[in-house]
Amino acid sequence: MKYKEEFCIMPDNPPYWSNKRFYGSERHEAFEGRTGNRNKSIEDGLVIFTTPQLHTQGRFSIHKSHKKWEETTHMQEIAKKVYMEYYNKTEEDFYERYRNRFFN
Ligand SMILES: [Zn+2]
Repeated sequence: MKYKEEFCIMPDNPPYWSNKRFYGSERHEAFEGRTGNRNKSIEDGLVIFTTPQLHTQGRFSIHKSHKKWEETTHMQEIAKKVYMEYYNKTEEDFYERYRNRFFN
């Protein structure tokens, strides 16, 4: 099964996520919540592809236990670092663009 390649600058991080779509995967945007963060994540390539189980369904999933997810995978820290490196931005630039770095 072929998927249209989606812009993603996140590193691969098995077993938690892939930086490419795979069969049955769901996309998660690294920064969501406040208006605009989701679209900015997509625009900047700060997206990951994971299983429905790890995305929303399991007890240990991004949307059900985001604190534990973040403590375990450091997804948002990685996304911030990758953003700064890829776009040659400072931490201040990052926080300016993504005012709310947490979920909800
Ligand atoms: Zn999500």
